[in-house]
Amino acid sequence: MTITSEPLDVQPTPLALLLLGRESDPRSERGVDCPGDLPAPSDPDLVERARAAKAKLGEKVFVLGHHYQRDEVIQFADVTGDSFKLARDAAARPEAEYIVFCGVHFMAESADILTSDAQQVILPDLAAGCSMADMATAEQVAECWDVLTEAGVADVTVPVSYMNSSADIKAFTGRHGGTICTSSNAQRALEWAFQQGEKVLFLPDQHLGRNTAVREMGFSLEDCVVYNPHKPNGGVTAEQLRDAKMILWRGHCSVHGRFSLDSVEDVRARIPGVNVLVHPECKHEVVAAADHVGSTEYIIKALEAAPAGSSWAIGTELNLVRRLAKAHPDKQIVFLDKTVCFCSTMNRIDLPHLVWALESLADGKVVNRIQVDRETEHFAKLALEQMLALP
Ligand code: SF4
Repeated sequence: MTITSEPLDVQPTPLALLLLGRESDPRSERGVDCPGDLPAPSDPDLVERARAAKAKLGEKVFVLGHHYQRDEVIQFADVTGDSFKLARDAAARPEAEYIVFCGVHFMAESADILTSDAQQVILPDLAAGCSMADMATAEQVAECWDVLTEAGVADVTVPVSYMNSSADIKAFTGRHGGTICTSSNAQRALEWAFQQGEKVLFLPDQHLGRNTAVREMGFSLEDCVVYNPHKPNGGVTAEQLRDAKMILWRGHCSVHGRFSLDSVEDVRARIPGVNVLVHPECKHEVVAAADHVGSTEYIIKALEAAPAGSSWAIGTELNLVRRLAKAHPDKQIVFLDKTVCFCSTMNRIDLPHLVWALESLADGKVVNRIQVDRETEHFAKLALEQMLALP
């Protein structure tokens, strides 16, 4: 029997989530408000204007679109993917002088680190940050390392930082002999790190760190402690740090962190036989209750391979889930939660910002360039190269 995908049954997001990324904080990776003269969102010619500016720029421009971007933006992407894939795609196009990154700030930083000096990376809205990356600042992480040193464990601790972190945190990781990981290779990164030392400091997403260690590698929840940068000494004792295998930074994704055990139970009651597929940035109890867990790329491939007529509840960002539901009308694909779960900062990149960035470039004016300083780039690259060298 073929089941047609039903409209996604969701309700408005609470205001707090929509406001994320509105403020500017020069010390965080989030960037500042857009200085541009934006076209009005109601301009009926926006699509045509974007097309014309892109055509005028030709090979000089390469537009990257993260999976969580809006449809109105993704239609102009030369390539789509997760943040690491996109940064590598940009590096593989040296003839593209301008890399327009439709994603968030840390992704544009990573693209700048991995591309050549001749390539300039542009983020159409500088206020498109990532709330998770903002949860670990350079000062907080340096303080944490001091706490680990005091407890006598820094020498045996290897930092492993998720791709979703600022260039500063990646550089910290490179300075201390650690590696970057993505949600696809977190297990390999942890296995490598445990061959180098006795403990791992996992930044900044506690859920990815915990889920990988416990679900994939057989550690227990008691092997994990959470370091809270807002508490004195991280809210943990020296003894707890000495006993722990995984020291998890208290950070999370505002989007994936919203899924709950109730959402899983609710969808199972509503759709008998549904397959629950969630991203590893979700809370541990959600991941434990799911049928399948995997990165964005894994989710896309799993749905491609799923038999017609099968039912899926997906726990990841809503723009992507909507696109997947549209792309697979022979399968029932629903959003795991009942409320809207867009990444509000990703959504800041809209058609007016993209048109503004492309038209400025076509006029010879580089706007919103993201540039990582040389020293930070050097050490961040060490950590990224370590990831590429993972067995
Ligand atoms: S989905 Fe989560 S981790 Fe990704 S950019 Fe948005 S807030 Fe950051």
